[in-house]
Amino acid sequence: MLYDHILIRYGELSLKNKNRKKFIYQLHENVRTKLINYPELKIKNSRDRMTILLNGQDPEPIIEACQTIYGVQSLSLAIKVDNDTEQIKHAALQALKEATDARTFKITTKRADKDFPIGSQEFNHVIGSHLLTNTEDYTVDVHHPDVELHIDIRKQGTYITSTRIKGAGGLPVGSAGKTLLLLSGGLDSPVAGYLMMGRGVKLEAVHFHSPPYTSEAAKQKVLDLADRLTFFGNEIKVHIVPFTALQQKIHREIPYGYSMTVMRRMMLKISEKIAAKENILSLTTGESLGQVASQTMESMHAINEVTNYPLLRPLVSMDKEAIIRISQQIDTYDISTRPYEDCCTVFVPNAPKTKPKLDKVKYFEGLMDVEGDITDIMNDIETITFPLKQEKDTFADLF
Ligand code: ATP
Ligand code: MG
Repeated sequence: MLYDHILIRYGELSLKNKNRKKFIYQLHENVRTKLINYPELKIKNSRDRMTILLNGQDPEPIIEACQTIYGVQSLSLAIKVDNDTEQIKHAALQALKEATDARTFKITTKRADKDFPIGSQEFNHVIGSHLLTNTEDYTVDVHHPDVELHIDIRKQGTYITSTRIKGAGGLPVGSAGKTLLLLSGGLDSPVAGYLMMGRGVKLEAVHFHSPPYTSEAAKQKVLDLADRLTFFGNEIKVHIVPFTALQQKIHREIPYGYSMTVMRRMMLKISEKIAAKENILSLTTGESLGQVASQTMESMHAINEVTNYPLLRPLVSMDKEAIIRISQQIDTYDISTRPYEDCCTVFVPNAPKTKPKLDKVKYFEGLMDVEGDITDIMNDIETITFPLKQEKDTFADLF
């Protein structure tokens, strides 16, 4: 194997001047945890990038794993040699030959080590002519080359790279706190969680479960979704809230058109309590404006009023097609489309109010004594923790 390193570029991270150290440390941690099954790797970071010494490991699965880590802007395979012209010539020639489909190339030298005796421009020519003399059917194309060889001359050695592989971008998970994701079994909320992770946010999840109206299979779906989401960031704790008794009470005591609004408010109220207990400062939902009755401006206003916590809605302006596309990319689609009902669909009235009046909501809700129910619920929450997934597995295909 020719290549002995993988280079990881940070992108947006390197813009975060003050917090850069913290971000880089977090990314290093995330890469190390993701690659824990490869103890032979050596991971080092500097101000502008990270290098992984392969120590003979096959780079392919490692690149695949790193591509899904938020904060990784792009990756390249690299060869490291001494700052010695002959060694660089040899390695550049090998790298060019490795790019089998390429017919045109360009050399770009960056000379961070000013002790290296040849300037960047001149070195481009030195290496370029070496490649032209030692190959037959390649030509130089500085505008649209098939392959661009980067020669990066640093104090500690020279790295030669060719192709750039796109990473997930965003910020490393854990660099921006934690949010409590309201995770239903639907398509939207897992995508919302995934997008929040891309802003550096860790997830914890809450699911409202109403047995026997909702089945074990519906709960399992949510657990599988949470398990799946760990692949992109962190271990995820899922709090399963027993919601049946309170839902029945709402169903009995709240006028039909308002039951959905009150039920949603209860969900937020309980979620806020869980968040407070877990030191989490925000809630996240998969709501998208106008999608269903609870997601009109009036409903959001009436529902949101119950909490002071920031309620994050990363999908608010997205249409369903775009959401579905992401769910397919992150492999949650097949889990989300398993046909089990969740608690909202079971209890939701045929014609919930799309424009609930806040004063009426509060009036009806005030007639119902829920504090005791909420205390009981808080005592009966089941919490399951899913560890971070190192490898993409195929459980979704089993169903
Ligand atoms: P999803 O596809 O995520 O279920 P949806 O379009 O079906 O969303 P709703 O059922 O109205 O929309 O739910 C809106 C949001 O409320 C969900 O995205 C989720 O964040 C939250 N939610 C709904 N049901 C539950 C539940 N049983 N447990 C936890 N959160 C829920
Ligand atoms: Mg739903």
